[in-house]
Order: sequence, then structure tokens, then C-alpha cells
Amino acid sequence: MNGGEREKGEVKRLTLGELENLVEKVFERGGPISQHLEGYEERPGQLLMAKTVARALWEGRAAFVEAGTGTGKSLAYLVPAGLWSSFSGERVIVSTNTINLQEQLINKDVPFLQSVLDMDLKVAVIMGWSNYLCLYRFQALGQYRQLGFWDSREAEELAALEQWLARCRTGSRSEVDFPLSDETWWEVCAESDVCLRHRCPFINECFYYGERRQAFEADIIIVNHHLLFSDLAVRRVMGFDTKRSVLPPYRYVILDEAHHIEDVATEHFGFSLSKIGISRLLGRLQRRKRGKTAGLLHQIQGLLETAPGMPESKAQAVLAELTDELVPMLERCEAAASIFFARAAELIRTSAAERAAPLWPTPGGIRLWEVLSDESRDFLASLEDLERGLNSFKDRLSPAEGEGWEILRAEVGALESRLTQSRALLEFMSGEPPPDYVYWGELSGRRGELSLRAAPIEVAEVLQEAVYRHLAAAVFTSATMAIDHSFQHIRRRLGLDSITIFPDSCLGQPPLEEVIPSPFDYRRQVLLCVPTDIAEPRYGFYGSDLAEYVLQVLLATSGRAFVLFTSYRLLQEIYQYCLLPLADAGIRALCQGTAARSLLLEEFRRDTGSVLFGTSSFWEGVDVPGSALSCVILTKLPFQVPDHPVVASRIRRLEEAGRNSFAEYMVPQAVIRFKQGFGRLIRRASDHGVIVVCDARLLSKPYGEAFFRSIPECTTVIEPWRETLGPIREWLARS
Ligand code: SF4
Repeated sequence: MNGGEREKGEVKRLTLGELENLVEKVFERGGPISQHLEGYEERPGQLLMAKTVARALWEGRAAFVEAGTGTGKSLAYLVPAGLWSSFSGERVIVSTNTINLQEQLINKDVPFLQSVLDMDLKVAVIMGWSNYLCLYRFQALGQYRQLGFWDSREAEELAALEQWLARCRTGSRSEVDFPLSDETWWEVCAESDVCLRHRCPFINECFYYGERRQAFEADIIIVNHHLLFSDLAVRRVMGFDTKRSVLPPYRYVILDEAHHIEDVATEHFGFSLSKIGISRLLGRLQRRKRGKTAGLLHQIQGLLETAPGMPESKAQAVLAELTDELVPMLERCEAAASIFFARAAELIRTSAAERAAPLWPTPGGIRLWEVLSDESRDFLASLEDLERGLNSFKDRLSPAEGEGWEILRAEVGALESRLTQSRALLEFMSGEPPPDYVYWGELSGRRGELSLRAAPIEVAEVLQEAVYRHLAAAVFTSATMAIDHSFQHIRRRLGLDSITIFPDSCLGQPPLEEVIPSPFDYRRQVLLCVPTDIAEPRYGFYGSDLAEYVLQVLLATSGRAFVLFTSYRLLQEIYQYCLLPLADAGIRALCQGTAARSLLLEEFRRDTGSVLFGTSSFWEGVDVPGSALSCVILTKLPFQVPDHPVVASRIRRLEEAGRNSFAEYMVPQAVIRFKQGFGRLIRRASDHGVIVVCDARLLSKPYGEAFFRSIPECTTVIEPWRETLGPIREWLARS
């Protein structure tokens, strides 16, 4: 046993053969799954995957398993994970990228597994701090409610939360069954740096700590990649065995939706300072809300004026410090932040990059700190003043003055240290980046809000040092990882392309690899159309060619389609072109950006003849089984934007090493994305439909083959666009 061990009454050592045998018995006809699942059919791919996962856990090594849609991959890793954990006493972490998959595991697969396996399998779910209600903060807010600090909506929400507390099970936000604003939740949720821990009077009933206690007892812990990598980022700084980590100790990890790991690791092993983040942080102290002042300082001011629970003279002195010193400091900081971020955003907007620009000295980078030396100095100085002000003010709120002040003091202290972190980050980023890092500024969202960001250019080495060498086994699985049946690309990107000897870690042997094809019959279920006469995207008339073709395809399919884009600008152009003719044909067009993603999907499923125009977030994680989705149009091969600072730095790195960045990086990344878009169509054995790819490069460029060879074999039509419309109609008429 090792770092992830738990107390088990009796731990039995199994041979690999015995473990594989147990796995087989669970999946075999007449076995526990088939007894509980009506219409169960043995799937050789599912069993192969389960045995591969079992072997990786038993032998202590990495494994890459691509499992095509319909393999049943969740059970294929949960079964061996449960068996392995029960017999070895080792805890297994299962991590997913999306909430959808996490919910499927929690609400469907895990309860099913617990009901069919004849063993006491303990499974826990851990979410981040802010997903749980903090009883202490909630109780403290009750005081302000009595003092009339809340408007009627907030008072209603707090009253509803109070009733909910009597019936909730885990105290997590996902259990809240009434409308609740983010703003109110942020006032009552648990926060690591506010928590009083053993000094908290609610520690025994605390929801967050309750879940953590359960997690320490669990065989399997389900988390999402963001929480796992937050935990790994803490362990990277404080040592892998630190007690300050988010998760209990572990050495066995299964990563589903593993094609996201490089991006998640890049984000979590990097840093970010955004205008929105700073505004929220300062707003926690004081803000204007619906014409009224709100925030922590305002609450403290109200308490000092009405029910200070401390001698009058002291309350007056603290109040004077707050209004005469702290509030003006805060206002100066807000003004300095606003000027700094506005000017920095302007610099990026006027640079060649438009949305994301590297910071000097990266080649082509903007000289942000030079140009904005006055603004950044003022901003840093105002942050430092405010930190100092909060530090001295916090000391005035002595816990000796009464219990109610302790949580307020903790909140002031937490905000002070967040300001310190922000200032340190700003100072760090105003220096020259280490050679393996890139710094950049990025405008995001509709309003183009600025974030300053830093990230490692390559995460492979960071993952080896900070993650794999501490893990006994790591299983990577996804429906979209292999390029032309090879894992070479993802292994290289994730730092598992060579063997490095670290005793007792998953790095000592080459990873196991399996590409498990989907059990679906794609030749019968999918017609793949590639028109031969749409201009390549680099030509000016590509947009007009595409618009007319997309419209004709949508009329031929009577809607029931996703039209997927790689840029919002092109989406708008084609959407506007199609909107009226589609309406004339009685087809409703839904467009990303007009409503929340979940609402658009709900509408699309409900209005079964509609069309949805979407960009990146619709290329994956969207499940619309049945005829409501009968056609997916991929307008362009989904190459990344090559001048994004991270992508550009990676390209430069590869070129400097004498490698072909396009073949080694850009094409494989696009193939993985392409497979995700392709995978939207067929979700069940009974699904049937058409995939249309409107990018002539698929046929004209040598790399087009890599795209074709990475998807299942389908019935294919490669003809001038007008000649594809008849086959599309006929194909759909067959369903
Ligand atoms: S232990 Fe921390 S999170 Fe839990 S109720 Fe107390 S202060 Fe809140």
C-alpha cells in the first residue's frame, strides 16, 4: 500500500489473472450486470477496456484507451477501479471534464454498480469549496437580515435557503431546488481562506468537511479535472504529500475525457489576473447594487453603527478608520485598476492580434509594462495601500469582541491575502518570463474584458515532475484521443512518450494502449458528404459558396441539424444568410450567443425540426440522440488559431527543435477536434444521419487522409455540391 491507502478490515492480494477473472465475471452473460440490466449484451470492446484498466492498476503503469461511442466506457473503468480498490485498499480518483459526465457517473453508473457488485463499494464525490454552503457565514448573515441590510429579494432567498437547509442532504449548490442568485450564493458559500476550521463552532456539521470525511473512507472519489488540477497545483508548490491539498492522498487516477488534460494542465499550472476578477474582489469589499451600497465593509459599518457588541468608544474609532481611511483607499484602488485595465485592453485591441497578444519579450509581443509604466505603478501602489489598510483594520476586529466578529475578521483577512496574491502576480508578470513560460493579454467575452495570463509553453515536463512520478497508475480515456489509431501525439503532448525510471511510479514502463472501435455500424448509419467544389477557406468566395450550400443542405434535411463553425464571425455571416429562407420553409434557426447554451439545446431538442448554429462549445459534450439531430455540418477543419500566444509559442518551440509543427501539432489537434464534431451525430445504435464536411482541404491536402483515417468507415459521397443533395435526401428518407 502507499499514499492512497485506506483502512480496510481485510486486504486480499490478487494476482492479475484473478483480477481479470473477476472483471470478466461481472460483464459475462448471466453475471451481475446482465442480471440487472434488461436487454444487456456482452460487448467485447467493453470487456477489453475493463481488462486493460485492471491491468494498468494492477501493474502500476499508464494506459491510453480510446473507446468509441457506445463502448460503455464508464462501467469499463468503474468495475475494475471498484474491484481493485476493494481488494488492494488503494483509493482511485476518477476525474471527468464535464459536469454532464460527472452527473451521469454519480446519478446513474455508480448507483448501478453499487447495486450489482456484491461488495461494500464506497464512492464519494468532491467538489470545490464554493459548491457548499458555509454554515458559519450563513448564520452570520442572519444577523444582518435582522438589521435590515437586505433588500426584499435577498431576504426571500435567505429565507428559502433556511428552509432548504432543513431538507438538503449535502449542502451543495447542485441540490438547491429554487431560483437563487449567484450574488447571494457567493455571500454564503464555503471558501478555503475564510474558513475558521477547528475554531468554527459548526465544524462537526460542516457540509464541506462532512464530504471530505466521507472521501477519506471512499474506495473511489469522483472529481472534475479542474478540481484535480487545482489539487495538483497545490501539491506541486507544497509537495505531493502536503496536508493542505484539496483531495485526500491518492496514487491511482483514471482520467476520462482525457483529450482535455493538456489544456486543463496549461491553465492550472499557469496564472491569470483578470479585470473581472479584480472587480469582483474589490466589490466583495464594497459595491453599488441596485442603487444601494453593499459588500463586506458596508455590513461591518452597519454593525458598528447599530449593534457593535464592543464598547462605544472603540466602535466609533473603528468606524472612523473604516470610513475615513479604508473606503477612500478602496476607491483609489478601483480607479487605478480601471485605468490600468482599460489602457491595457486598448493596447491589445490596437495590436495586430486583436483578441490575444503576447507580452514582450516574446517575439511580436506588446510592450505593455513600458507603455503603461505609470498606470501599472499606480495600480500596484494602490493595491499595496489597500492591503496595509485591511491588515490594520482586521486587527481592530478582535475575536475578543464577540463571536460574530470572528467570521468577519476572517473574511477581511481572506480578501487581504487575495489582494496580496494579485499584487504578487502583477509584479511577477511585469518581469521577464522564464524561458519555458509565455505571458499574454487576452480579451474575452462580449465586452472584451482583459485577462493577463501566464502559462507553461509545454506541460509535458511539468506533468512528469509534478504528477506522474507520484502516481502508481494513470489511465487516460476518451472517445477522441488517437490519430489514425496511434497515441503518439497525445503521449508526446502529455509527457508519456518515453520511459523514465522513477521507482514505484507509473513512468517505469511504456503505457498500455488500446483503440476500441465503436460497436455501431457507421457504414449503415452515416452518410459522409464532402462537396468537391466549395472554395478552400483561404479564398474570398469561400463564405458565399458555403452559405448557399449550407442553406441547400438544411432545406434538404428539413432542419434537424447542427451547423458547426470555428469562428463566430463566419457563423454570423452564414446564419444571417440562411435565416429568412429557413423561416420561409418553416425551419427555426437557433444561434449561439442569443441564449444560454443549455436553453438553446433544450429548444433544439423540443423543436425537432430546428437548426442550431454553434461554435466551439457545441463541437463536444452535446448529446442529442434520435432524429432531432439527423445532420451535422462541419463548415471548416477545426485548426487552432496559430497566432494565439500559447499556440504560437508551441509552434516556435517545435520549429526551433527542427520539428514540423504543422504535421506534429496543428494537424493532430485539429483531427481530435474534428472527431469530436463528427461524434455529435451518432449517439445510439438506432441513430442515422448525415455528416457534411465543407472544407476542400480534406480532399486536396495530403493531411486530409489523417482526418479520414481517424473516423469510423462510413458510406461516403464525394461529388460537386449540387450532386450531394439527392443522396442526402435519399439517405434520410431511409431512416
Ligand atoms: S468549518 Fe469552515 S466551511 Fe465549515 S461551516 Fe465552519 S467556517 Fe464554514
